[in-house]
Amino acid sequence: MTNTTTPRPGRRSLTGAPLKVMLRRMSSLHLTAVSQFERAADLLGISDAHRAILSVPENEVIVNFPVTMDDGRVEMFRGYRVQHNNTLGPFKGGMRFSPAVDIDEVRALATWMTFKTALAGLPFGGAKGGISIDPKAYSPSELERIVRRFTFALGANIGPDHDIPAPDMGTNAQTMVWMMDTYAQMGSIADRHTVRRVVTGKTIAAGGSAGRDKATGQGLTFALGAWANRQGIDLDDKRVALQGFGNVGEHGARTLVKAGLKLVAVADHTGALHNANGIDPEMLWRYKSTDGAGGIAGAPEAEAIDLEDFWRVDCDVLVPAAIENQITAERAADITASVIVEGANGPTMTGAEPILADRGVTVIPDVLANAGGVTVSYFEWLQNRAGDVWTLADVDARLRRVMTDATLQIMSTAETYRCSLRDAAYVTALERLTTVLNQRGMFP
Ligand code: GLU
Repeated sequence: MTNTTTPRPGRRSLTGAPLKVMLRRMSSLHLTAVSQFERAADLLGISDAHRAILSVPENEVIVNFPVTMDDGRVEMFRGYRVQHNNTLGPFKGGMRFSPAVDIDEVRALATWMTFKTALAGLPFGGAKGGISIDPKAYSPSELERIVRRFTFALGANIGPDHDIPAPDMGTNAQTMVWMMDTYAQMGSIADRHTVRRVVTGKTIAAGGSAGRDKATGQGLTFALGAWANRQGIDLDDKRVALQGFGNVGEHGARTLVKAGLKLVAVADHTGALHNANGIDPEMLWRYKSTDGAGGIAGAPEAEAIDLEDFWRVDCDVLVPAAIENQITAERAADITASVIVEGANGPTMTGAEPILADRGVTVIPDVLANAGGVTVSYFEWLQNRAGDVWTLADVDARLRRVMTDATLQIMSTAETYRCSLRDAAYVTALERLTTVLNQRGMFP
């Protein structure tokens, strides 16, 4: 007789203990993402089946493809697209080009996208992809061939209503236009324009949205503003220390300064700067794109400081907007800010969280703080679908509303569950996801 409750010997079940064993074998970043939603799953008491479904991605596509280099050599590349979950809508998320890209990192980033889109109330699921390369090591024409061949290799695994890539670290609007053009060439000639929304984050000329470029930075400023307003905190002249001066950092700096805050320290891969009287983001951006040759080290009007001292700088707001695992337990003990706004994905290590909590530091979590990018991606997708063009003022007003609603929602959930804003963000997203999972039921 078959026992229906105990898995038969030799069978692998994704619920219960075997899943935990499987995850323990995975390296840390995906495990971090899973443990974050597991805490919220405990608070909500969600079923083992739903935990199992959300603990692993739905699909993992790995493509190996050849590209001819400028000198005639052929180099092989490995590209990834991990589709975590599409319960709420088409898979959505960026394409990252960085030497650190591997299947574990992409899995974690795809998982975070599912929670990010759910929390922002967007009709999208979560995905992420990328190639393990340093884009700076290739010429523009080599990069174009890499992007086009990657898009070709992915084929029908992406699609305007199926899985919609966007920029992320190491990619930009030009990358997206090459992807869009390649995808369009692969389909019917009559669909050239209807398939434009296969990617978002395009140049405005090629179908992008006003405000998409600054969306992630602008979104984090709106989230901080909504949080401070609800707490009765005046942000005027509050001192900001910012790590990372890529797309998120640059626009985070510009929008925070515009909102009245003072940028007192900036760090990137080339060095760290400090000026208690304030650093002008416009000057820094100009320096980085000219004399600084891609980095902030050596910029005028600020004193160079040790990279490690950056974490000890006197400030009120800390914005990690670079890469994962930057706020270690050691650094957490030295941070002077009272609020951390996570512009990057996964910048705070699990071991640092209790230290920050004990020290009374509020963390506005990544899945909320950097959701502005994917939110304006959704606006771009809607505009492409409708053949419409929205003004920057319209995009900004709608983005402000999404970020404010999501921030207030997780603040009230945090009060209800007496938990951190991170746990509250996952609770809010999980409630939305499990409601639909329950209503749709299990197939077959
Ligand atoms: N790469 C961004 C993120 O991590 C944007 C994703 C998108 O616009 O789809 O949220």
